[in-house]
Amino acid sequence: MMHVLGGGPAGLAVLYYAHRAGMPARMYEAASFIGGNARTIEWGDFRYDSGAHRLHHKDEESLRDFLTILGDEVHVVDAPSQIYLDGHFLDFPLSPLDLLRKLPKPLLFTIARENLSRRAQSAAAPDSFESRAVAAYGPTLANTVLLNYSRKLWGVELSDLDPAAAGGRLKGLDLKTFLLEGLRGAPARTRHLDGSFHYPRLGIGQLFDCIAAQAGAENIQLNARVTAIEHKDNQIGGFELEGGEHITCHELCSTLPLGLMIQLLRPAAPEVIRAAAARLMFRHIRLVVLALDRSSFTSNASVYVPDAGASFTRIYEPKNRSAAMAPADKTAIVVEFPCFSHELIWRMSDDELMAGCRRQLEDMGLLHSTEILDACELRLFNAYPVPQLSTQRDLRAVRDYLTGIRGLHIIGRGAEFRYTHIHDLFKSAREFISGRV
Ligand SMILES: Cc1cc2nc3c(=O)[nH]c(=O)nc-3n(C[C@H](O)[C@H](O)[C@H](O)COP(=O)(O)OP(=O)(O)OC[C@H]3O[C@@H](n4cnc5c(N)ncnc54)[C@H](O)[C@@H]3O)c2cc1C
Repeated sequence: MMHVLGGGPAGLAVLYYAHRAGMPARMYEAASFIGGNARTIEWGDFRYDSGAHRLHHKDEESLRDFLTILGDEVHVVDAPSQIYLDGHFLDFPLSPLDLLRKLPKPLLFTIARENLSRRAQSAAAPDSFESRAVAAYGPTLANTVLLNYSRKLWGVELSDLDPAAAGGRLKGLDLKTFLLEGLRGAPARTRHLDGSFHYPRLGIGQLFDCIAAQAGAENIQLNARVTAIEHKDNQIGGFELEGGEHITCHELCSTLPLGLMIQLLRPAAPEVIRAAAARLMFRHIRLVVLALDRSSFTSNASVYVPDAGASFTRIYEPKNRSAAMAPADKTAIVVEFPCFSHELIWRMSDDELMAGCRRQLEDMGLLHSTEILDACELRLFNAYPVPQLSTQRDLRAVRDYLTGIRGLHIIGRGAEFRYTHIHDLFKSAREFISGRV
């Protein structure tokens, strides 16, 4: 029997492939629902996801499996994304012609001068997210569209942020690629941007609901918070649930956040490992959802907001992914506020956050508060592992220690402390299960 800790996408992917391979597996989830940070919430006549989710086309086998799992309940969405800056919607990825049309001339002049000077292109040491972005775009354009945004998203000094935080988005973004993209026009940009993607009719959570239905409700234990993970003589021995239930096992797949997993180990990990795990930081997100009395907000999949004066980073409109997400004459938007738990945004009351969100959107000219029909909010814990340059050493120490415990397997965004997407988790789960049958 394979025991799986955590019922987010990673845990459900393991459950799915185990079920498909005929391997007995059981999943334990602390919450009263499955899906973790990739679920869909029903809210009156509306549905929304826990953040702007889509099924990327980056791993063919995972995509085939998504289509098999969802059957007729999945469709292709063609929707671009844009950046909202000083009252203008800019194409994303950036296009030279679009920038020429929409940015003020003095700013364009500075951007052009910087990008044409070789010095701006090569001021790149040491290798960090910031230095790569500046090398790709020059300081002014990098700051205007990317760095201000990333400071809000990650909450740390960008000179300390690992380039891996870009999740491949800085790849190929040199001046030559940028100009070529611009000359090739919109279709090439859309492909580059993932402007075309698959999406389940009833929201991202439908993928996981389908897996749960196929793998069998009897193999999923909800309200099952893991409180200890036991090991002895370098071998996994079992785990304990809140309330005292003890489960003996010799094969355990944990998708729990790495820091938590280290805290739960019995006997405890050495102090140096616990200290390294405690330094691994996660960015949380608070979402504000606004129901609007109009049929459309924009036609974008996502709108990115780099403006340092706004404390949110991204707005997404569920209806642009599937018409089933809102009534025909109404729409909703989901606004993402990244934060750490010690920051004001995390500590604000729901009412304060929703009022602040309305005010900021109104000040930016994006909506009028009289259009807002209703509002709600949601907290996402451990949404993004923050990959600082110093993280690698701590991560290696923690991973090396865990590798020494036989029968303990780790898959998941928080568990691997890696900027993974759903297809990455499915790929890892598929390879993990196929290696055991
Ligand atoms: C805003 C946002 C947008 C995203 N957009 C996309 C996208 O467009 N496409 C894409 O492919 N991916 C996207 N992702 C990534 C995707 O959502 C994550 O990779 C995924 O949620 C990680 O899954 P996971 O199972 O590793 O972790 P989680 O989703 O965090 O699940 C972990 C689970 O473990 C449970 N748990 C925690 N502690 C315990 C305990 N003690 N005992 C038992 N259970 C416990 C939690 O309740 C949770 O259900 C996005 C993520 C975010 C946050």
